[in-house]
Amino acid sequence: MSDRPDIDSALELTESIRKLSQPKDPLDDAFVDHGDSVLLLCRDTDSRRWGPRWLTRVGLTPEVPAEPQNGLELVRQLRPSVIIVEAGLRAPTGGPLYTELANAADIEAPILVMCANNKEVLAAQDFDVHDLVRKPFEWQLISRRAIAAVRIRRLGYKLIESQQALEHALSVAESARKRLRSHQSFEPLTGLPNKRKYMELLRRAMAGADRDGSELAVLVIGFTRFRLVIEAMGQEQADEVLSTIGATLGECLRVSDAPGLRRPGLRTAATGILDQFRFAIMVTCTDVDDELSGLTQRLLDALADPISIGSQTVRLSACIGVAIYPQDADDADSLVQRADNAMRDAQSRGGGFKYYCSETDAAAVRKLRVEHMLDEALDRRELSLVFQPINDVETGSIVAAEALLRWYGEDGSQIVPDEFIPIAEESGQIIRVGEYVLDEACRQLKAWRETGMALPHICVNVAKAQLVSSGFCATVAETLKAHDLHPSSLELEISERGVLAGDHEIIGQLHELKSLGVRLSVDDFGTGDSAIAYLKELPVDVLKIDRSYIRGIVNDRKDSAIASAMIALGQRLDLLVVAEGVECTDQLKQLRDLGCDAFQGFLVSRPVPGDAFEKFLIL
Ligand code: C2E
Ligand code: CA
Ligand code: CA
Repeated sequence: MSDRPDIDSALELTESIRKLSQPKDPLDDAFVDHGDSVLLLCRDTDSRRWGPRWLTRVGLTPEVPAEPQNGLELVRQLRPSVIIVEAGLRAPTGGPLYTELANAADIEAPILVMCANNKEVLAAQDFDVHDLVRKPFEWQLISRRAIAAVRIRRLGYKLIESQQALEHALSVAESARKRLRSHQSFEPLTGLPNKRKYMELLRRAMAGADRDGSELAVLVIGFTRFRLVIEAMGQEQADEVLSTIGATLGECLRVSDAPGLRRPGLRTAATGILDQFRFAIMVTCTDVDDELSGLTQRLLDALADPISIGSQTVRLSACIGVAIYPQDADDADSLVQRADNAMRDAQSRGGGFKYYCSETDAAAVRKLRVEHMLDEALDRRELSLVFQPINDVETGSIVAAEALLRWYGEDGSQIVPDEFIPIAEESGQIIRVGEYVLDEACRQLKAWRETGMALPHICVNVAKAQLVSSGFCATVAETLKAHDLHPSSLELEISERGVLAGDHEIIGQLHELKSLGVRLSVDDFGTGDSAIAYLKELPVDVLKIDRSYIRGIVNDRKDSAIASAMIALGQRLDLLVVAEGVECTDQLKQLRDLGCDAFQGFLVSRPVPGDAFEKFLIL
């Protein structure tokens, strides 16, 4: 095989077709060769005398054994092209010889049976014999029929051979088609150049930029949580999403290049697809800063448009990474790699666009490493839960525990949730992580209760990617059932940050969860795009005021005013208000004065492992 599989495929295919096209007329080959032999098994003296003469005349070589009843053995020895056998001959076993010949699986030669009367004709019809002749035996005719039998059998072999050759040619053609398709220059779904073609175009564009002294920007486009969205849909719908994105990119670039809109130095060179999840664009420009920002913004806006697939609507958030030639890299592979790193950096910031800089590489490498390590950590069960008490402000009694994830690597070093949770969310690993947390938290609560330790609820953090994943509700219901817990024992904390901002899909999901009977809380309240406007639409039970407001509650008048308003708002809406991050008694006192219901923070305890937590539980 050469290193050009497309050429190999083409050669193999041509050879198969050539073989298939021979012989031109299969009958040519079917004619009797002069070496073809005929075994004549009979006792009839006339036939023994005349048969061989006529058979020789038509070109067959006759064998007339003295003891024809041993025909079976003789056929196996001599392998004749055709057998002529007298119906009345008996094999040593006692049965008619021709029936033994017809039933022997290893005998392929056609059998011609010489019948003395009608009775024999009728009996022979039930067997797999080629032809029958009836007395009087006319050897002129019988020899012709023997020849015809040889030809027909040979023709049959030819047909089988051709069919096999055809099947082979078809399978060669199919694998050639597959191989050639992967070596085509365009990705069939989007019609965009594939990675190979894109890199080829990029190298050409780099040479062009060298010639006329312009700069060349590579834009790698990815999406936050794209893998998750794509994997949640069927393949057909995912394909539609991809082709819509391809079309949107094409449209955007056409508009950029339209007369009147075209910036003086900006010229789009090509759009391509790097894989199922990433696209790439290259543009030549004379002033990068000025010219590119308009284009990237237009791309981000266009890609934020909802995509409707049947009854479903998909909203994507694009991330663009930009690397410039010759400034950021001087070969095509590094240029795309660096734009890709910048894109991943933008991805970890939740979207938007990012120019490549040297720190980008480090951040992207670290992210990939964490992503990889997290998979292993899950397999090795390196993740564990710690618990932090939530207490009543008035009585100090424990009202709940929040389960928080911990990850200690093999070397004992800790990777904090603020780093790995966003990475897991983006990669889709959060689904597995979340299932572990839910299961482990429920297991722990059940274990405490079984030993008589009372705890009203366990609080579990839920990421957006989990909420929007199909089957989340079912997982929650199944987990509760598996641990034999009432749904009201579980409280799911959903961060206001970037999650609750008026997203109807999420609100629908919350209602579904609520109908299971679990408690819901708004976490980090005050940090998002403000849930106040639609707080009344959310089926939640608890409001957790973010610790950034609690920090200044004693000394900062503004923080104190905001916290006080939040507490009042929660109470007006009949929600339980919990203050997060309470570290000192002054803060607690202030919260008590403001009428806050519960609090959580280092003042009572840092999050601790399950066994250490037991001291907070009243027996
Ligand atoms: P969060 O849900 O707001 O959790 C509270 C965080 O505040 C915890 O950080 C906790 O250790 C910390 N904290 C509690 N009391 C105090 C205090 O008095 N002072 C200060 N300075 N901090 C306090 P942690 O455990 O590092 O978790 C950080 C974030 O990671 C969590 O914020 C949550 O958003 C996320 N997270 C943790 N575990 C999970 C999980 O199982 N699933 C998901 N989706 N996210 C999780
Ligand atoms: Ca929380
Ligand atoms: Ca929080």
